[in-house]
Amino acid sequence: MQRISLDYIVVGQGLAGSALAMHLFRRGKKFVVFDLPNKNNSSHVAAGLFNPITGRNWVKTWKADLLFPYMRAYFKEAESLLNRRFFYEQNIYRLFNTLYEQNVWMAQWTEPGYVSYIDSMYSDEKYSGLIKNPYGGLKLKYSGYLDIPAYLNAVKCFLEEQNSYHQTQFIPDKIERNNDGIVYRNYHAKKVVLCEGSVAQSQKLWEFLPFKRVKGEVLTISTGEEFDVIFSKGIFIIHTGNGICKAGSTYDNIIVDPGPTAAGKKQILSKLTNFFKPDFKVIGHTAGMRPATHDRRPFLGMHPNEKKIVIFNGLGAKGVTLAPFFANQLLDHLENDIKLDQEVDIKRYI
Ligand SMILES: Cc1cc2nc3c(=O)[nH]c(=O)nc-3n(C[C@H](O)[C@H](O)[C@H](O)COP(=O)(O)OP(=O)(O)OC[C@H]3O[C@@H](n4cnc5c(N)ncnc54)[C@H](O)[C@@H]3O)c2cc1C
Repeated sequence: MQRISLDYIVVGQGLAGSALAMHLFRRGKKFVVFDLPNKNNSSHVAAGLFNPITGRNWVKTWKADLLFPYMRAYFKEAESLLNRRFFYEQNIYRLFNTLYEQNVWMAQWTEPGYVSYIDSMYSDEKYSGLIKNPYGGLKLKYSGYLDIPAYLNAVKCFLEEQNSYHQTQFIPDKIERNNDGIVYRNYHAKKVVLCEGSVAQSQKLWEFLPFKRVKGEVLTISTGEEFDVIFSKGIFIIHTGNGICKAGSTYDNIIVDPGPTAAGKKQILSKLTNFFKPDFKVIGHTAGMRPATHDRRPFLGMHPNEKKIVIFNGLGAKGVTLAPFFANQLLDHLENDIKLDQEVDIKRYI
């Protein structure tokens, strides 16, 4: 069999592998992608939200000023190259839970650092036909959602057109090493980048990395209502068109059952009915594993003993915002020897 020379083999075509593949294309590199999708993979389940102010304490997300502009430019360029729409910019309306929260934000929202991400603040009810919000809320900007299935499918079709896609399992144990690269099937590549999501947690190769899988569940609901803002109060509600919404998600560190559960559904429904007024019907329920890490920072870099084997993982709950920026940073590192950000470099665990 004739051997094909490549710069890279990419394993996995979730958010990490897709961003990496598109950056490789942009840099004119020769590569192939191996992916065997599974309905419980994080990227296939995620709602795709991007949100600059997150968490229980409403803090500006890590590196937001760098990540958000990069992500926006990346997905806009990808939409035009792939000729498909999947990136939806929408305000998030985050409801205040208490009068105290409202007072805190009244003083804080115009502070430098926050003001550029906040569109407006409301101390009275807004969207009162749709939600109960007696204390008002904050309307965020530079937020929205990625239609992840549409994006992944567009990337996959694009790779297929370039003969760069194999829908099959990649078996790391079958990698052969030689002086100038690795051999896998009929390919010789300078490097292989493993973007395998949460399955990497159980691999011997990466046992020194403190992964921390976090399970999440999401409901799809059908309502008679259409709206163009994302609601957030303990859970999010994203209207994705024609009265269909995604609502979620749960966060479970202790994973008894990896699939959708009655308890997960109950948890989402209880938060949803707490503030969402319209009648709705549950029409879908999915679950997946976030490839999270103990220090909540991604894992990037070459394996300490196997420099030809590289990891791009640990995107946790923020794959949409992290994947584009760090795909580019990883390639700057591999191609031009530019140092990785210490916070994401796996050397921090060596
Ligand atoms: C319920 C839920 C809600 C979420 N909501 C959001 C959200 O709103 N916004 C956000 O930014 N993030 C969200 N996330 C997190 C986001 O989904 C992840 O950060 C992201 O999808 C991780 O992408 P990944 O490419 O690293 O991994 P994955 O999505 O797991 O992709 C890995 C791919 O590699 C394939 N693969 C693995 N090993 C092999 C192999 N050996 N051979 C071939 N193929 C292989 C897998 O089948 C898969 O297709 C959510 C996650 C969950 C579970």
